[in-house]
Amino acid sequence: MSTATALSHNPAELTLLGCDDHTNIAVFQADSAHDAERVNTVAIDLITGTILCDCKGAECGRACWHADHVLAAWRRTPAALVARHLSDTALCNLGKKSAALAATYRARIGRPLQDDVTALVAARWEWRERYNTNRRVAYSTRQGQPVAA
Ligand SMILES: [Zn+2]
Repeated sequence: MSTATALSHNPAELTLLGCDDHTNIAVFQADSAHDAERVNTVAIDLITGTILCDCKGAECGRACWHADHVLAAWRRTPAALVARHLSDTALCNLGKKSAALAATYRARIGRPLQDDVTALVAARWEWRERYNTNRRVAYSTRQGQPVAA
């Protein structure tokens, strides 16, 4: 936790809006506590760990609770939870199946289904968590500790 406000919030307050299988970025939203008409959006690059938020605090260069909780919010998504409990073989199969479905829907209707994309991103993320592969910039892992790049 890097912000005082993080202690008064939790990852369940962030709702997964969607993922992109080309960038491996997951996007979450949370209603603003200060402005009823504002919805804050926070995105996490699940390869690099880079987090971007558009809330008022982040706009002013301050740390925000959205950034503090977005990785935990990702970890508690159904797709990430399913991926975490699969064997290596089942995880590979999930990734291959999701990638094939995403490609099929892209070819047929011009875009993949969000469930396929989220499952694919989750399978890739889980594999990286297990084997620390393709990580350009390390970010906290399951133990919550920084990992050397
Ligand atoms: Zn924020």
